[in-house]
Amino acid sequence: IKNIGLYTSGGDAPGMNAAIRAVVRTALYYDIAVTGIIRGYEGMIRGDFVPMHRKSVSNIVQRGGTILKTARSEQFKTAEGRKIAYENLKKNNIDALIAIGGDGTFTGAKIFGQEFDIPVLGLPGTIDNDLAGTDFTIGYDTAINTVVDAVDKIRDTAESHDRLFIVEVMGRDSGLIALRTGIAAGAEAILIPENKTGMAGLFDRLENGRKDKTSRIIIAAEGDDAGGAFEIGRIITEKFPHYDTRVSILGHIQRGGKPTCMDRVLASRVGVAAVEALRDGRSGEMVGVIHNEISYTPFDHAIKHSHEINAKFLKIVEILSL
Ligand code: ATP
Repeated sequence: IKNIGLYTSGGDAPGMNAAIRAVVRTALYYDIAVTGIIRGYEGMIRGDFVPMHRKSVSNIVQRGGTILKTARSEQFKTAEGRKIAYENLKKNNIDALIAIGGDGTFTGAKIFGQEFDIPVLGLPGTIDNDLAGTDFTIGYDTAINTVVDAVDKIRDTAESHDRLFIVEVMGRDSGLIALRTGIAAGAEAILIPENKTGMAGLFDRLENGRKDKTSRIIIAAEGDDAGGAFEIGRIITEKFPHYDTRVSILGHIQRGGKPTCMDRVLASRVGVAAVEALRDGRSGEMVGVIHNEISYTPFDHAIKHSHEINAKFLKIVEILSL
């Protein structure tokens, strides 16, 4: 391997910069060049490449977002688009790829690695934590800490006004952000796409549970079946008019900010491991951490959404919100 093409793709996540820095510095350590590909697959097709040096990644370990920018590319989903991308890589002597992103990014990486003779590895970069083959994804820890901070603030006003708040967090297909933040923020209930009986359980609590609570926080993942926080708010207001119900949608605040120590360390570990894995001849895999050890998972398996959640977590919420 002489020149690694490095890109971030799909939704941005805090800690992507720490991963970029780790890949660049490790490659240089092993005398391998790195070419930054701007805006993921979009940049690959446009030939938007920049050489990366030791200094290109100075002072970024603590910054949210991604210095390589990110984008979604429809053209890369076509065979013609990918052919243009491959020709651009060849022209620039890029002979390996490291992709930082989520399941869509890895689907593209898998197809590309099968179509063309180029090794490709992936690093899990998504706030959703919805990849198999790693205990945590880069960005998840920062995102859940941002959510918990925000909910703590909402709790102050909920408590002062005796209000019930429905707080919507990110997670279109996955309730993993909601599940952990619900426990950490002391939520009354958690509504997630993986649990079909969430609303029924919530109604039961509001009807038969303790009546002397002064504030109530319900965490809802955006992809919950009930149809979004405003719809949940409408239903609760209709059924329980005596509660002063409010809705708060946290939105994009969850994607930004300084990565936590956990995310920086995870990003650094998998970044170093990915370059070493390319040198060892590995390809077609995502590099993650399972039980505190580096692990390699074929893209196919990594992107398989496991819709299983730890049911014990929901029980914990039920017990602790007595
Ligand atoms: P996040 O989970 O944070 O949204 P992601 O990596 O899943 O991140 P996507 O937007 O789903 O983000 O995918 C990123 C890009 O990967 C797409 O814009 C597209 O260019 C490429 N991609 C996704 N699916 C395919 C596919 N089937 N074939 C080729 N390329 C794909």
